[in-house]
Amino acid sequence: METKKQKVLIAGASIAGPTLAYWLHKYGFEVSVVERSPSLRLGGQNIDVNGPARKVARLMGILDQIKAANTGEIGTQWVDKDNQVTASFPKEGANSLTQELEIVRGDLVNILYEITKENVTYRFDDQITQLAQDDHQATVTFASGHTETYDLVIAADGIRSRTRTLMFGDESVFNYLGLCTAYLTIAKTETDTNWARWYTADDSRVLLLRPDNEGTTRASINFLLPQEEYEKLDKNTKKAILLSRLAGAGWEAPRLAQEVEKSDDIYFDGVGQIKAPRWSTGRFAMVGDAAYCPAPITGKGTTLAFVGAYVLAGELATHERFEDGFASYERILRPYVESVQKLPPGIPRIAYPKTALGVSIVNTVVGILASEPVQKIASVFGSSDPEEEELLKDTPLPKYAL
Ligand SMILES: Cc1cc2nc3c(=O)[nH]c(=O)nc-3n(C[C@H](O)[C@H](O)[C@H](O)COP(=O)(O)OP(=O)(O)OC[C@H]3O[C@@H](n4cnc5c(N)ncnc54)[C@H](O)[C@@H]3O)c2cc1C
Repeated sequence: METKKQKVLIAGASIAGPTLAYWLHKYGFEVSVVERSPSLRLGGQNIDVNGPARKVARLMGILDQIKAANTGEIGTQWVDKDNQVTASFPKEGANSLTQELEIVRGDLVNILYEITKENVTYRFDDQITQLAQDDHQATVTFASGHTETYDLVIAADGIRSRTRTLMFGDESVFNYLGLCTAYLTIAKTETDTNWARWYTADDSRVLLLRPDNEGTTRASINFLLPQEEYEKLDKNTKKAILLSRLAGAGWEAPRLAQEVEKSDDIYFDGVGQIKAPRWSTGRFAMVGDAAYCPAPITGKGTTLAFVGAYVLAGELATHERFEDGFASYERILRPYVESVQKLPPGIPRIAYPKTALGVSIVNTVVGILASEPVQKIASVFGSSDPEEEELLKDTPLPKYAL
């Protein structure tokens, strides 16, 4: 007699959600994904698919597609207000900010959607508003009004996950890092090259422009803000805040201000980490940024989403009881997550000087680092940590022979 397939609902169709859906379907689960946006959210800058995420991508058969969608970024240049290069970190250099497998976030989201859409039910423009569970099932009420039952529900709806709150209340802590970041896609101009350009302005502001493979440029506007003040603002208020932060910043800030005014897809949020005391409760669990966002400054959000989804699906498939699968997922992954979330002292403040003198000190230090045989920029500005790389080597991904 064939056993009934376990029904799983995943909230969030970005990186973690569709990756989990892929693996769960492969292991025989019946999977649905609910996404709050009316369509896939394709914004964002370049993201890295490295280390164990690369292995998961290879196992999913999408490594070649990811390689083909490479942004073509050849490294990062530090520039001053006259766009003069003060330091260069080519991609081939040790610890370069540019990784071998850089892909624009939206391209990756699209690839994951395309390989799952035949076998997974996607429901856009909807979200979970109520959750209940008992010994037999989880009961889900959607914003669209209907109610359905599932065996398991997984939150993969990002750092501000509402599904997490429905599951755990306020138990998970959002650790704000004192930094705000906005991402937007802008028209390419003649100053944009295949280098990422990093500009440090006074008053704790950093502007970063990066090439993509679509003939546009990916911009990010970053600034320190000690207290988190910008949660849940409407689009126009967010734009006004960004325009005020761009005022007087110099370099290409006027160009960015024009683009902010025009754009209707700006991702703007406080930067923080999610440190949750547990990742599951009964039939509910979390994956990706919803569970353990490490913050973009680590460059590891996508890696954790890929690896988390792979391990969660594998552990559910290899344990008879879902409770044991959830427990094993957390046991395997937590040490790695904690190592990724460990930030070097002073990060991110060190990269955001307040005064013009501070800016020139940062530029000088970066210039010296760029001239050393071993370029250490990533370790100074918060990317890969040697300790974490070491742990990674010793944390091979489990193999699920299913
Ligand atoms: C628009 C956007 C742009 C980004 N740009 C960058 C970037 O440039 N650089 C970078 O390092 N990281 C960026 N990130 C974050 C990055 O995608 C994640 O850190 C990482 O890939 C982990 O992905 P995730 O799937 O766990 O979460 P996310 O990528 O945050 O995806 C969460 C998904 O859940 C959806 N969602 C939200 N609330 C609900 C809900 N209540 N119900 C159902 N669905 C919901 C969202 O629309 C989104 O599709 C961006 C995220 C988004 C959403």
